Amino acid sequence: MARIARGNSLLTDVSHAEVARDVEEIRDIDAALQRLAAGTYGVCARCEKSIHRPRLEAYPTAKRCLPCQKLHERSRLQTQAPTLEGLSGL
Ligand SMILES: [Zn+2]
Repeated sequence: MARIARGNSLLTDVSHAEVARDVEEIRDIDAALQRLAAGTYGVCARCEKSIHRPRLEAYPTAKRCLPCQKLHERSRLQTQAPTLEGLSGL
């Protein structure tokens, strides 16, 4: 393992981001294993239909079918994106 130079905040930030991503990945895998144990693996968390097999093969920890995932991402983008609401009077 390479040593990270003291005061190199860029490297520290990168490794923090990597750790956060790894933690997220482990949580997704853990959640998928729990769904597997509960018999709900491969079932969309939103519409409760089966998630298509090619999607699960490409993304084994998928919680939602593709249409529901797109809706989920769109709704998240809408709540996170800044809007011009309230500025119309300016
Ligand atoms: Zn769905």
